[in-house]
Amino acid sequence: MSDRDNLLEKAYKTNDLTKEEIIYLLDNMTSSDREGLYSYALKTKQAYYGDKVYLRALIEFSNICRQDCQYCGIRASNAKVERYRLTPEEILACCDQGHKLGYQTFVLQSAEDLWYTEEILVALINEIKKRYPGVAITLSIGERSTETYQRFFAAGADRFLMRHETASQELYEKLHPTMYFEDRRSCLSALKDLGYQVGAGFMVGLPGQTSADLADDLRYLKGFQPDMIGIGPFIPHSQTPLGAEKCGTIEDTLVMVALARLLIPESLMPATTALGTLHPQGRELALKAGANVVMPIITPASVRKQYALYENKICGDDHPEDCRYCIERRIQSVGFQVDLGRGDSLISCNNG
Ligand code: SAM
Repeated sequence: MSDRDNLLEKAYKTNDLTKEEIIYLLDNMTSSDREGLYSYALKTKQAYYGDKVYLRALIEFSNICRQDCQYCGIRASNAKVERYRLTPEEILACCDQGHKLGYQTFVLQSAEDLWYTEEILVALINEIKKRYPGVAITLSIGERSTETYQRFFAAGADRFLMRHETASQELYEKLHPTMYFEDRRSCLSALKDLGYQVGAGFMVGLPGQTSADLADDLRYLKGFQPDMIGIGPFIPHSQTPLGAEKCGTIEDTLVMVALARLLIPESLMPATTALGTLHPQGRELALKAGANVVMPIITPASVRKQYALYENKICGDDHPEDCRYCIERRIQSVGFQVDLGRGDSLISCNNG
């Protein structure tokens, strides 16, 4: 057995690798090592979650942003984006349609748009919970105060997605001129302490990102034990300062998905839209490399294309019902079963 075989076997059997071991693997992996890694990750996913793939309906409700992330197509400085904001009534109409399509989780995602005050969002969360008892609400709206997060939680929000983006402080600060590395991490810890099921995650292939940075991403996740982990390739957007940079690769992203599955086996991991954009079978490949969630978009067709974090994002012309059944076919095509239940993470179940 090669050193790499030994390390992959260790990751599979112990769910752990040191930073140095991860760097060694990332720098020396062959295509046959990758196949071995994906198969260990798939076995691990099956041992913890079986063949189920959970669906989350994604509502992208505003692209108006106060932040200026260097990679993001809807950053504040991009004057060429046509901006939109769905009203609470329009968001509720999306939920209604999503509920009819069978979804039990609504992910309310937006740019950092403070038009949605604490009061507006609390009322919206209350109304969703009243209309659809038993559904889970996931927020993905960026940084707010701990008190505000607490009020959203008290109103009925169950989960919160906030990628840490990169575990390298230097890279984080270069990419986020309006944000602070420590603030992001404090928000994640506060959300967890409040009782949310929390999703962290990062981009792969960011300009200047090294194997050591990616190893730090995995070690951070291992320590933090998030309920959900979102990993996607960086995809440049021409109207941003990183417009001329290269995309992250499908192989590198799948390797990180698979290693995250081995190191944090109880987490829920989406096969991300960015992976589906990079490669026509990107999401299916991610499901075969350890992912077990897909987030079909139910944003109204009239504004979908305006939520362009990167260019050529898939499903821009689709309607919610198209995405619902397209995704189901894709999941079945690689031998997995759609589960429309709430799909709480094993980490949250084990913590009571
Ligand atoms: N504003 C919220 C936040 O900060 O968590 C949620 C929305 S934010 C636009 C969602 C995610 O999109 C980010 O966490 C980032 O990882 C990803 N993203 C943004 N631009 C991207 C790009 N050019 N390529 C790939 N992913 C990107």
